[in-house]
Amino acid sequence: MSVQRYRGKVYLIGAGPGDPELITLKAVNALKQCDVLLVDDLVNPAVLQHAKQGARIIPVGKRGGCKSTPQAFIERLMLRFAKAGAIVGRVKGGDPFVFGRGGEEMLSLRNAGIALEVIPGITAGCAVPAALQIPVTHRDFTRGVTFITGHGKNDAPLNYVALAASETTLVIYMGVVNLGEIVNGLIAAGMSAAMPACAIQNGTRDNQRHIICRLGGIVASVASAALASPAIVVIGEVVSLANVQSDSDLFASLTVDAMAAA
Ligand code: SAH
Repeated sequence: MSVQRYRGKVYLIGAGPGDPELITLKAVNALKQCDVLLVDDLVNPAVLQHAKQGARIIPVGKRGGCKSTPQAFIERLMLRFAKAGAIVGRVKGGDPFVFGRGGEEMLSLRNAGIALEVIPGITAGCAVPAALQIPVTHRDFTRGVTFITGHGKNDAPLNYVALAASETTLVIYMGVVNLGEIVNGLIAAGMSAAMPACAIQNGTRDNQRHIICRLGGIVASVASAALASPAIVVIGEVVSLANVQSDSDLFASLTVDAMAAA
């Protein structure tokens, strides 16, 4: 354990996937205590209603047309405020340790001897499929779930053979940009092009949109629906459980894919 040398403290707070009600009570209580909040852009601003009056709110996100705030700069800001004695909230979408760079931030705080508390959040990989009633580990359909990012640090290729053989539902974060490559890789590694798949943008938010189709048709479906980030891609038999009976697009896209496959 590192020795804490400063009065300040950092909460690494998971703010959930978008719906402002999908935040934990512990996160709300931490937000109420913070003097400074460093907020990622996937965080729904509605959760900031829990901040204490007068708290300094600093957006450090990468979207919204702004240039990304470099990670090193965010870490320096956190350290500076905490060393000056502030209670700092580092607020992230979903869960801070699931593709959220929470691990890197934890280590830099630990190395600097700053007290840290991690408050988990509901990660998009579970909550966003759930918004369509897709149970990612239904045991009649799958042996588990694999969370992957379509956008790795050095963009080394994914191990498609292992993924295709895993008998798990694949949940892909940040998967839209490299979707074509991922789909080709999985099919070349033996996954059926008829595997149910879906992409969901802005899951759990008012502006949620999705497409459901077969793996072989997902790139075209995503393009024709103009689905973009932030989106979660789910590949696996569990997608067939999605509750979209009223969604005529589903049947249209399945029919088109089935015809293409025939
Ligand atoms: N820490 C976050 C993930 C950060 S990575 C978590 O645990 O959820 C950012 C990626 O998460 C996005 O590119 C997208 O793939 C996914 N994501 C986050 N919120 C989402 C949402 N409301 N709808 C769809 N995808 C989302």
